[in-house]
Amino acid sequence: MRFQWLLLLSSLWSVLLFSLPADAARLLLWRFDASQNRLVFTTEGGVQPKAQLIADPTRLVIDLPGTTLGRATVNQTVGGAIREVRVGQFDAQTTRIVVELAPGYTLDPQQVKFQGASPSQWSVQLPAPQRLAPSTSTSPPPPPTRPPANNPPRSRPPANNPPPRSEAPPSQPATGGTTAGMILDSFQVTRDGFFVRTRGGEPENIQVRRSRDRQTIDIDVKGASLSSRLSAQEVAVNRFGVSQLKFSQEQSSPPTVRMSLKVTRESPDWGASFNSVGGLVVLPQGPVAVLVNDSSSAPTTPPAKASEQLATIDAVELSNNGTQLLIRANQSIRASSRWERSVNAYQITIPNAKLADNVRGPQLDENSSVSQIRIRQQNPQTVVILVQPRAGVQVGELNQPSEQFLALELRRERPRTPNLGSIPVPPPTSNTPTAPLPRVPNSRVVVIVDPGHGGKDPGTIGIGGVYEKNIILPISQEVAALLERQGVQAVLTRNADYFVDLAPRVAMAERTGADLFVSIHANAINLSRPDVNGLETYYYSSGQGLAQTIHNSILQNVQVGDRGVRRARFYVLRNTSMPSVLVEVGFLTGRDDFVKLSNPTYRSQMAQAIARGILQYIQQSL
Ligand code: ZN
Repeated sequence: MRFQWLLLLSSLWSVLLFSLPADAARLLLWRFDASQNRLVFTTEGGVQPKAQLIADPTRLVIDLPGTTLGRATVNQTVGGAIREVRVGQFDAQTTRIVVELAPGYTLDPQQVKFQGASPSQWSVQLPAPQRLAPSTSTSPPPPPTRPPANNPPRSRPPANNPPPRSEAPPSQPATGGTTAGMILDSFQVTRDGFFVRTRGGEPENIQVRRSRDRQTIDIDVKGASLSSRLSAQEVAVNRFGVSQLKFSQEQSSPPTVRMSLKVTRESPDWGASFNSVGGLVVLPQGPVAVLVNDSSSAPTTPPAKASEQLATIDAVELSNNGTQLLIRANQSIRASSRWERSVNAYQITIPNAKLADNVRGPQLDENSSVSQIRIRQQNPQTVVILVQPRAGVQVGELNQPSEQFLALELRRERPRTPNLGSIPVPPPTSNTPTAPLPRVPNSRVVVIVDPGHGGKDPGTIGIGGVYEKNIILPISQEVAALLERQGVQAVLTRNADYFVDLAPRVAMAERTGADLFVSIHANAINLSRPDVNGLETYYYSSGQGLAQTIHNSILQNVQVGDRGVRRARFYVLRNTSMPSVLVEVGFLTGRDDFVKLSNPTYRSQMAQAIARGILQYIQQSL
């Protein structure tokens, strides 16, 4: 859907493509060799492809940044497990090659091998596509995890899997009971339990038995065998009250795989179900009480005693840059925790504590790893804390660093929903596309990166109603991140879409004792002048050297017109005491610049060029 939409957009833009610089790379030829599952392509001019596997339908997407096709979309129908190969102009700067699999097939992104014989000659070797297990029409499997929701964390199985499809696989229809046999391929711990990726068919049945001493749960999967990777594997897990998990192949007819979970006596029962999109979902039945310090050898925590001295919880706060929620008490506490489906939050229960009067929890804002924390005295001796992670944040283990402290891990993850995995593409063998950014190790230099406008102030409004504030924020954020990575302290005057007046921006620079001030804007003239495009860099007094260095870096590394380094009386330039500049990255009313600045890849190139200029200036002058 998205792909077609973008193709549509790019055809709207096709008229603008004629104004592209002549030295961009061009896709000269491509060929898919179905007998070898190999795609080859040749460009005029070097290119560094980017590749990812996307679900529903499953397709391998290869982007060639800085490359044009110069003609309409081309399809090659392949047939079999690989349905077709399409090549089209994704956007003004990017040619996209899509290898689409037939419904019901996928491939292992880790087996996709790119090889660049030169920057302009590439071959992509695909593994044999694998058939996804067909859906059963009788009893659709239960959803393997909790809230489908707006914030699916990454490690849970469904996020990594294509959603169940309604259409039947094309060629081999499922023949009841006589499937070729399922193979258990790989294993992962999810937030809820375990997920075992499978291929080839479905199990005949699944039986779960718990031993008399309650310390072993055997899950027998009939009609299945183990991949060499999982063969006779023992995995120490220490999660959800499970200390160890073992896979073994039972010699029987039909072949049966046994998954043995070593559990504590108190551990809930476990169940397993087959999920037709490619795996076994193994989940505890009922709430999991994950005991703090949960491990196979640790003695279990004794139940609460009425006579027990109650601890007082004095603080609940975020620490370690928001990656940890710390709970502090005045004396020893115990806790259990679990994901609470009904409120879509992680629940920490402390059965021997009361709340101090002044405990409010941390101040949260839109950058916090947590969107909401609720703290309550559930009964006279029990405190309950509900933690709702923000989208893209995964709740890790609840640890107890000392008797009086609990620490909950919060890990940020890159959001990815339909993406089955990005595929590493090695640089071509004869390379040197761009030099690495200069490093300024152990530097005390502070750079203010100032994305203009924000919030109620959209800045310039360009072609198609695009707002300047939204174009320049990601550029500024990337500049700041790159500077930090290279050893320079970068401070953003705003890090999201909110309004900041000019005076506070200057004040921030003065207060932090910043060494450099770099304001980032986009230009505009008038919608009737799409012919006006290009880069302008401004300074007022001491910023001339910095302006020139950044301006040159952009011209060397980005395809953009040159409108010169200029002097102007902008507020932020006049009122800052350090060298300060204002970069107008391009004209949102300009036909060329607008198309380019709408492209994240181009914006990223722009950010890198600005960061490179700043770093060069620091190396030379500070
Ligand atoms: Zn502006």
